[in-house]
This record gives sequence, C-alpha cells and structure tokens, in this order.
Amino acid sequence: MTLPADPTGVVARDRAHVWHPYASVVEPFPLYEVTEANGTRLTLADGRELVDGMSSWWAAVHGYRHPVLDRAVHDQVDRFAHVMFGGLTHEPAVALAELLVDITPAALRRVFFADSGSVAVEVAVKMALQYWHGRGRPERRLLLTVRGGYHGDTAGAMSVCDPVSGMHGLFNDYVAQQLFVARPRPAYDEPLAPTDLDEVRDVLGQRSGEIAALVVEPIVQGAGGMRFYSPEYLRSLVELCREHGVLVLFDEIATGFGRTGTLFAMEHADVVPDILCVGKALTGGYLTLGATLCTDEVAAGICAAPGGALMHGPTFMANPLACAVGRASVQLLLDSPWQATVTHIETVLREQLAPCRDLPGVADVRVLGAIGVVETTEPVDMAVLQPALVDRGAWIRPFGRLVYTMPPYVSTDSDLAVVTGAIHGALQDRAG
Ligand code: PMP
Repeated sequence: MTLPADPTGVVARDRAHVWHPYASVVEPFPLYEVTEANGTRLTLADGRELVDGMSSWWAAVHGYRHPVLDRAVHDQVDRFAHVMFGGLTHEPAVALAELLVDITPAALRRVFFADSGSVAVEVAVKMALQYWHGRGRPERRLLLTVRGGYHGDTAGAMSVCDPVSGMHGLFNDYVAQQLFVARPRPAYDEPLAPTDLDEVRDVLGQRSGEIAALVVEPIVQGAGGMRFYSPEYLRSLVELCREHGVLVLFDEIATGFGRTGTLFAMEHADVVPDILCVGKALTGGYLTLGATLCTDEVAAGICAAPGGALMHGPTFMANPLACAVGRASVQLLLDSPWQATVTHIETVLREQLAPCRDLPGVADVRVLGAIGVVETTEPVDMAVLQPALVDRGAWIRPFGRLVYTMPPYVSTDSDLAVVTGAIHGALQDRAG
C-alpha cells in the first residue's frame, strides 16, 4: 500500500484547518491533492493519474474540462457572473427553466432554482406544506417516506433520510418527526407481492389527513444504500398516495439526466410527481445548482393563501454561471446518444463486476444503468481500501458496505476496465 504523498504540502495545510465531508479531524481518512482534471482523468500532486469512477458524486457526467461546458462558463463570466434574482432575471435562467420544463413530464411547469440538491429538497418540502396551507388544510404537514432513503443534509431533508444512516438519533430533537414505512422490498427485477404495500395502505388509511406529501427517490435509493427497487412498487405507491390526496414529491437529484438508463428514473415506472427535485448532473458537475419543479396546481395552491408567495429566496438563486453551464450540459446530453452510452456502460459493468460475486466477504453485486455496486458483508476499512483502489489507478469512494462506481458517460471501455479491475483487485486483496 502506498500512503498518499504530499509533494506540495497542500495535504498537510488542509489537515491543519479544513473539514471534509462526513469526516473526523482527529482520525481523518486518506486525502489526495488533485492538480488537474481532464476528461475521465484526475491528476494527483504526486503525478499519478486516476481514472474517475465517481463522476464527482454523480455530477460530472461529461467528464472534466469538457470544451462545450468550459466555453459556456467563459462566455457567461465575460458577461456577468452573478446578479440577484429578486426583481431581476437573465437569459441563462430562463433558458434552463424552459429546457427543464421541456424534458420533464408535461404537468411540471414551474421551476425554482436552488443552490444545491439539499436546498432543492427544502424548497420542495416548503412547496408541499405551503400548498396545503393555501388550500385550507394546514393540518396536512407530515411527510411520508420509505426507509433507506437519502435526500440531503439540511434539516428538512434529514427528516426524510433513513433514520439510522441519516443519524436521526444524533439530531432527534432537531429534525421534524415524519412517517416512515419499510424500505421497498422487491428489487428492480422482482415481482411485487400482494402484501408489499400493506404498511403503506395502513398508514394512509389512518393518517392521510395529516400527510402533505410522499417523498421518495424513484427506483434507486442512492446514498441510503444504493438499492434498486421495483418500478411496480413505485407505481403502486404513487397510486395509493393519489387515492388519498397526498402530493407526490420525487427526488431525482441522483438519478436524473440518464444515470439509470432513462432520462429520469420515474420513467421506469411511468409515473409523474407533483413536485420534482433535480441537481448534481444538472450542471455536468461544474457548479452547484439544484432545481425544484412543480405543477400549476401546486403553484396555484401556494399562491392561494392571502399574500401567498413561496417563502424561499437564496442569495445565489439562479446563479448565471451555474444556469449557463447547466443549460449547456443538459443540451450536450440531449444531443448525445446518451441512452446507448448508458446501456453500453451497464453491459460492461455487469460483465466486469460479476466476478466480484465469488470473492469472500461480498454480499451482492448489482448494476442498473451506469451504476455498479458491490455490497460487502462488513463495512469496508477506508484507510486500507481507499489507497488500494488508488494504487490500482482508479478513483472510487466507498462508504459503509458499499464499493460502487458511477462513471462519467464519456468513459471508454479501457477506463471502465481500470475502474472495475480496481474494485475487484482491492476487494480480493482485502479478502486475502
Ligand atoms: N438527494 C439525493 C437523492 C442525493 O443523492 C443528494 C446528494 N447525495 C442530495 C439530495 C443532496 O444534494 P446536495 O449534496 O447537492 O445538497
């Protein structure tokens, strides 16, 4: 195992002052300085080049330094980098909103730009609560969700994250108490059993008058466990909510923009929400931006209350640089053969990750679209596994019992071979 080198001293300076995501400053994980990123490659300060298997947390679908995206940012910065969105507007925001309305279900016609995925979820929750307020039903203020979900790290989003992995114990008195049902039982290709939605039926039967909205990640539960669940389950869940007048809120922040093989994961089940959150790949991983879309009915409900305005307005709302690169990134995706590309990545990941099934300590291997997951029986030791993956030339960031890849769509077959080879090799060494 090669310990991360620190030729420039940046890692040491970082260690002195900087927090990293989900990290301890006392027992930090290995840390690597990136000096360049281009295409699918990350260059480290010690000169090593890694093949990116993470798309920078599902975002950089076109790879790094894509000429079209670089150009979009340059062009916009030459005009202006930012102006407030209160009372002002600009073409990049309007164009991106139009594009989002175009590519999402017809009923979603209003777009609120948020500064990140988590904030998009906060806005979505506010929309649902304000909708019922406007419709004279303020007692409908609970959210219904499934266990195993993840929706972000801000307080409202945390309240619908899985209670265990979302650290509800730690923030018990702080986050709102919502209604949880068991995580979807049937996997993506398993049939729905008649009893699978009994708990949902019970909860809705007893408490729908208090429920504002269902909040779920369609088809793929991402950071809450990387599980792929049955489209039939999702369809039935949505039908039940509709029968009880509960709004449907989809979080497609991780699954949007082709990752699961359809442009949005909800298309696997042919269902449409009242409120939709997108983020991550929205800007091709260039800048932080989320968006919350809703129907005219939701918008009308929000505005029906006296003085009814949606009560959110971040300083950097609809940042022009982010909107400009967002528009360029979405258009670049639409102009590419993304579906064939994602299907090809799926085939390659299936084939190349399959041998991991035979490794000791591996519980499951699953692939959907451009997402490949190896689940281990015990949590991985990041201090060992991370350097082992880097030594094999791949950037993969495991967590808990999950070693997974979501490669950029521009990955070549040899890039994918490096990524899957690193996962197999590092897990094999771990077992040996
Ligand atoms: N929802 C889902 C499904 C996510 O995967 C994430 C991020 N992992 C978020 C919300 C939060 O997005 P952000 O990190 O941009 O706040």
